[in-house]
Amino acid sequence: MTAEDRTSDRGWIATAAGEHLRGRRVKDTKPELTLRKAVHRLGLRFRLQRVVAPRCTADFVLPKYHVAVFVDGCFWHGCPIHGASVFRGPNADRWAEKISTNRARDERNTAAAEAAGWTVLRIWECEVKADPERAALRVAECCVTPARGTG
Ligand SMILES: [Zn+2]
Repeated sequence: MTAEDRTSDRGWIATAAGEHLRGRRVKDTKPELTLRKAVHRLGLRFRLQRVVAPRCTADFVLPKYHVAVFVDGCFWHGCPIHGASVFRGPNADRWAEKISTNRARDERNTAAAEAAGWTVLRIWECEVKADPERAALRVAECCVTPARGTG
């Protein structure tokens, strides 16, 4: 590795947490799996990784009810309890900037999916961790009226 490589990441300071986060998988995260299992136990059926708007893929959708579910990681999506505003460390400002970009994209995606006829439900990772059954009930509450013309 050259000095060039080491500085090419625009000045991010390597931290153990950063390395961990960078290597994180974006699909099939643990909270998402936990939520899907709880939703399944309620008798609801879903499809995974469905594109609901241009460049917007829901974690899972319930096609029968036109409900699109996103499970948002607390850190990356800026949860009020665990988001970047509470981040401490050498890269705090950079994380905050990155997460505010993510949040803006989340809002655009939610609007785009709603415009495409989906009921959008965003659930925090920490909600799933705290009480998977309750998080699943939030999904179920959106699934009361079958969407017309489907399923
Ligand atoms: Zn959280």
